[in-house]
Amino acid sequence: MTRKYDVIVVGAGPSGLLAAKAAGENGLEVALLEKKTDPTQLTRACGQTLISMNEYFFGNLVQYNARDKRICFIPDGFSFKYDGPYLNLYNLARYTPDGHKIEFGDYTEQKRKGDSGKVAISFDKEILFQCLLDEVKSCGVKVFPGVNIQQVINSNDGVRVEGSGQTFESAYLIAADGVNSRIAEVTGFNKDRYYYCNFYSLSYYLSGVEPPQPEQVVLIPGFSEQGAFRCYLLPRPIRGEHNLIVVTVDPRVNLETAVDYFMNEAICAPWFKKAKKLKAFSAVCNCYSAIINPYKDRVLVAGDVGSTQELELTGALISGWKAGQAISTAVQEEKLGINVKGVSQYTNWWKGTYIDPGCPEIYMTGMCTPYILNTAEDMNYVYGLIKDPIPACWNPYTAANAIRQSMAKAIAIAQKERPDIVQKLERKRLPAKELLTEITKISKPVS
Ligand SMILES: Cc1cc2nc3c(=O)[nH]c(=O)nc-3n(C[C@H](O)[C@H](O)[C@H](O)COP(=O)(O)OP(=O)(O)OC[C@H]3O[C@@H](n4cnc5c(N)ncnc54)[C@H](O)[C@@H]3O)c2cc1C
Repeated sequence: MTRKYDVIVVGAGPSGLLAAKAAGENGLEVALLEKKTDPTQLTRACGQTLISMNEYFFGNLVQYNARDKRICFIPDGFSFKYDGPYLNLYNLARYTPDGHKIEFGDYTEQKRKGDSGKVAISFDKEILFQCLLDEVKSCGVKVFPGVNIQQVINSNDGVRVEGSGQTFESAYLIAADGVNSRIAEVTGFNKDRYYYCNFYSLSYYLSGVEPPQPEQVVLIPGFSEQGAFRCYLLPRPIRGEHNLIVVTVDPRVNLETAVDYFMNEAICAPWFKKAKKLKAFSAVCNCYSAIINPYKDRVLVAGDVGSTQELELTGALISGWKAGQAISTAVQEEKLGINVKGVSQYTNWWKGTYIDPGCPEIYMTGMCTPYILNTAEDMNYVYGLIKDPIPACWNPYTAANAIRQSMAKAIAIAQKERPDIVQKLERKRLPAKELLTEITKISKPVS
């Protein structure tokens, strides 16, 4: 049986839930289709930190209103309930393999400022899903779990989607099915995209970890004969728990071995003496160049679908909300018989906020450091020269910028001491595509 909606949203992740909420609140007939049978279940690795809370991100300041238990986006003016546990995070500490620490913000100073010193919060994503699902249902959105969309068929005045033996019809489709989007593939959005590599991750919830600071995000790189990798250690909002996430773009790296390295051999190994593994997650994400124009043939792309690998939760929530508003506007404009501008407002925002500032290239360049400084010794030397304070942040774009600026001083010193390393650093000027050439050759997109 086919059903006719104003909009179908494929994917009930952060982006799809916000898109459905926006369209539902505006009175549209909305179908939200999700392949998981339980949309609230977390099935993929995630750090579960709401990033960039001390600066603008995609045009918004994201705040947690603890009084009313709401996550709020200012100035766009939308919010939703989150009544689960949370923990303020005050800075990022990035270590070299030999233990030199570069802090993004002074932990003690940030913590002294209290709520306004936080750079992020750590939260529980399953509770966030539950809260959003409740809101989405309460504004009339029809939610269909267990529907894995495989096909998209266009007609003159709408879209038909098929999957798991069901068919749905609507005037518009919002593709919010994440980084390995089936919708982007079957509708041709991926045709002109450059494929870089995959981003692999393995994560463990752990108890008993004893890092130097309880409310800090830690990043540590590692090298093995197989290739380079790095770990993030993120406090969970549940007292006494941490999330250890080990990531790589190199398909030769064994992530289990990399986890063992951090827990037993690396400079952080003493923190894990009493650690117990509680739960494991993994993720494999395609890294394509970004979608430049996120709309065609009545399909609008939201969230990670259009990104190189991730927009972060903050970005996915914002783009989902804006996509839902854009389609609501377009539907209303069509009803009124006036010029349809809703969609172009979204595509202009996407270009102005994500594409034009160069976010996709900055993000991918962040993955290239081990292909510029390709030994632990090189990394220890160069990053060991960074001694000046760096502004507080937990935001990949700001962090990359800050490191680039600090690096300029380090290069001046290295020019005298280690011209061989300066020669390697020259490669920093190359585009991510070139830096990752060898990895691209041995990688293959997942579907
Ligand atoms: C290891 C790792 C750690 C991360 N840590 C953080 C972090 O700490 N902070 C942060 O801000 N971000 C983090 N992120 C990024 C964050 O998880 C994503 O940016 C965010 O989840 C994107 O939301 P989305 O809704 O666009 O996509 P997704 O969260 O991927 O949601 C897509 C949804 O679509 C569904 N779906 C997929 N295909 C279909 C189909 N064919 N039919 C129907 N449904 C479908 C999926 O089941 C899923 O529910 C991390 C990512 C990874 C991989």
